[in-house]
Amino acid sequence: MAQILELHYRFENQRGEIYHRLTNQREIMMNTNSWFAMMRELRRRFTTGMDTILFNAGEAFGSDIVENSTKEYANMQERAHFLAQFASASGWGHFDYKIFPDGAIITSPNNAFADLVEKSSTPSCFFLKGIFQGIYNVILGEGTTVNETMCRSSGDPICQFEIKHKLH
Ligand SMILES: [Zn+2]
Repeated sequence: MAQILELHYRFENQRGEIYHRLTNQREIMMNTNSWFAMMRELRRRFTTGMDTILFNAGEAFGSDIVENSTKEYANMQERAHFLAQFASASGWGHFDYKIFPDGAIITSPNNAFADLVEKSSTPSCFFLKGIFQGIYNVILGEGTTVNETMCRSSGDPICQFEIKHKLH
């Protein structure tokens, strides 16, 4: 695990700073109880507006990371492998993916974010959904839609995201 962490993160031990190797942005670790408390408060104050807040935050991050990974990994399979490994190294869970010319299907049996929202009758991983939207806006361009078709927060065994470009 330590090696995987160092593949993705640069540690400035003396300064107590961590940077992402590709984006060069400073990273922090966050306790999941704090994240859950934040989600609960966002839901309480903004109701469905929370979905947009999380989606937009994810989308900005997704575009940023894929733009930087494009320089390093030109091949689509290598890039997907890198991104899935990055998610695992960040403690987000295990991700499987099938890539098609006009999109992808991404699944996770244990994505952390599904456990960090209150149970819901509809899929609720808006941060991850935004990340995939940001990634695929860069890869396939305008007209790409991301749907979460199964979600552990609403009782499914896995989270599943379907990404599709309408013009292909
Ligand atoms: Zn989910």
